[in-house]
Amino acid sequence: MAVTLNGQDYRIQWTKNRRTMGQIDYERGIIRLSSKLKGQALVDTIIHECLHAWFPRHEESTIDQAATEIAVALSTIMKDT
Ligand SMILES: [Zn+2]
Repeated sequence: MAVTLNGQDYRIQWTKNRRTMGQIDYERGIIRLSSKLKGQALVDTIIHECLHAWFPRHEESTIDQAATEIAVALSTIMKDT
């Protein structure tokens, strides 16, 4: 599975036994996601890594806050549709 973000292709790699929930490897073009993630935590992590792909110079705290707010907004909006 692969996705294109900001003009670059990223392969999605599901990982087990990792301390981190998600990680982006810009050089190899890989987004790693923990296979333990489900539901909103998975959505939050996917958005988080996508934001890293688009804004590689942004602070981790900014990416983290933006991803969580987008995940909650998506969840809220989707519940009502
Ligand atoms: Zn991050």
